[in-house]
Formats: sequence, C-alpha cells, structure tokens
Amino acid sequence: MYTKVDHIGIAVRSLEAAIPFYRDQLGLHLEAIDEVASQGVRVAFFVCGETLLELLEPTRPDSPIAIFIEKRGEGLHHMALATDDILQERSKAIENRIRLLSEAPLDGAHGKLITFMHPKDTMGVLLEMCQRKADPH
Ligand code: ZN
Repeated sequence: MYTKVDHIGIAVRSLEAAIPFYRDQLGLHLEAIDEVASQGVRVAFFVCGETLLELLEPTRPDSPIAIFIEKRGEGLHHMALATDDILQERSKAIENRIRLLSEAPLDGAHGKLITFMHPKDTMGVLLEMCQRKADPH
C-alpha cells in the first residue's frame, strides 16, 4: 500500500547554488546531504512537513540527472510514493504491464529501497516507489 508522498526530486546543476533558495528564502530545514555513487548524484534533503524535497546534483556527466538536465534543464524530476511493501508493489506493477526501470529494488539515498516506473506507463510522470529499510539493530 502507498502511504504518502515521500519526496519530490528536483534536478539542479549545483547544490551550492540551489540550497540558499530552499534554506534561506523558503526557510526549510536542510536535513542532510548524501551521495549515491551508483546513481552519480549528490542529494540535499529539505524537510517540508511529512514530505522531503530532494535536490539532485549530478556528480558525473553520464549520470541520469546530468542527462536529464542536458535535455530538459533544471526542474521537477520525479515524485516518490512511500510504500510499506516495495516487493508487492513491484509485482502488482509488473502484472499490470507497467515497466520498471530496474530488475530489483535499488539502494536509494537516505537508506531506502527504490524502484522507478517508466514515465510512458504513468502518464508522463517519473514515479518512484520507495520503502525505508528496517532500522539496523
Ligand atoms: Zn527519489
């Protein structure tokens, strides 16, 4: 089951340039900056109620975010819905012929398992499903 909008992903060329707007102009709390080497991104998380705004900065020219910015400029990149069972949501999507962009859930930023759905199967939105991994004991 999907439970909330977990975060909104926004592609930016530079975290250093984008952070002051979100922090100082909008007054949002910068919770963390994280690097996901496998995706070639650095990510800044701002808290807005129960939802995070995730600013995504490419760390190399072949990263998916670099390619996105190259084609479309900075801006809204994806929306993520939290689920309590990502494997079940993956199976349901596959049954309904919604294409998934990975063979298995990937490690995302912020200790989450993530899977993207193909925008051609979701009315043009790059939708992510994500599940927080169990807290380590
Ligand atoms: Zn995301």
